[in-house]
Amino acid sequence: MTNLCTNSIEMVEVGPRDGLQNEARLVSTADKLELIDRSLAAGARRIEVASFVNPRAVPQMADAEAVCVGLPRRGDVTYVGLVMNRRGAERAVATGRIDQLGTVSVATDQFAMANQGQTSDGSVEIAREIVAFGRSVGLSAQCTISAAFGCPFEGEVGEDRVIAMAAALALADPIEIALADTIGVADPAHVHRLVTRVIEVIAPIPVRVHFHNTRGTGLANVWAAVQAGARIVDASLGGLGGCPFAPGAAGNVATEDVVYMLGRAGIATGFDLALLIEANHWLAGVMGKQLPAMVAKARSFPPQPKQHKREVA
Ligand code: ZN
Repeated sequence: MTNLCTNSIEMVEVGPRDGLQNEARLVSTADKLELIDRSLAAGARRIEVASFVNPRAVPQMADAEAVCVGLPRRGDVTYVGLVMNRRGAERAVATGRIDQLGTVSVATDQFAMANQGQTSDGSVEIAREIVAFGRSVGLSAQCTISAAFGCPFEGEVGEDRVIAMAAALALADPIEIALADTIGVADPAHVHRLVTRVIEVIAPIPVRVHFHNTRGTGLANVWAAVQAGARIVDASLGGLGGCPFAPGAAGNVATEDVVYMLGRAGIATGFDLALLIEANHWLAGVMGKQLPAMVAKARSFPPQPKQHKREVA
């Protein structure tokens, strides 16, 4: 059953965390804060600002606390800190600037061991503890199921395994549960089926989706998820991204590409596409390379009057 009647989708900007964490070039705290500022200016209202993990494992996130110190104080914005365990959650809380804890549970044992040194079941248990801990200190928490569509080590991931994890996580009553295609192997039919099944199991808890465009199916998967009833979509400015513990992982779906696609299809995201494209060009300068996102490489459409004049002159 498709759901064509939605007219708005919430987007979570994950550029400062998932977007940057796999980049070899260390991005300065100041540039991370400018990325967050530009995302806010373009319309982001929920931003994953950092992960509180061992800096030796993910050097790009070593300045998580410093980023938090510099976050603009905004009552209308939710800052998300990703945490893998109680210690990370305590670090996030200690900053006093994180509004929401993000947890990660992994669908397979081998990837769970590589990503966070525990079994898949163990990663569900810890996520539930973090949700409860967040509640005890007044923070909301959300859960992500990583490698929900395929694992870099074990291959195919059974849908029933993901459904069982979603049901177990739902018992902790997080604000949402996300299905993440960490290595970009999902196809739209798989996405539609799994999102539909997870909604059946966890409603009224909403489903968020997180896609990587490793094999070019990212936008198609976003569309399939939205049609199936997912209400929140992760994206990264410029399409940067990857996982240090998932061999061959490539960028997230790009914020500007998702905003363009949904906007043209009549689904509001609250973002200003022109400001996103400006931010893309700025970020490309910071990273010293062209970014994977498509929309910023093309002329805007429909053409802007000024741009059109320049072109014919
Ligand atoms: Zn990711």
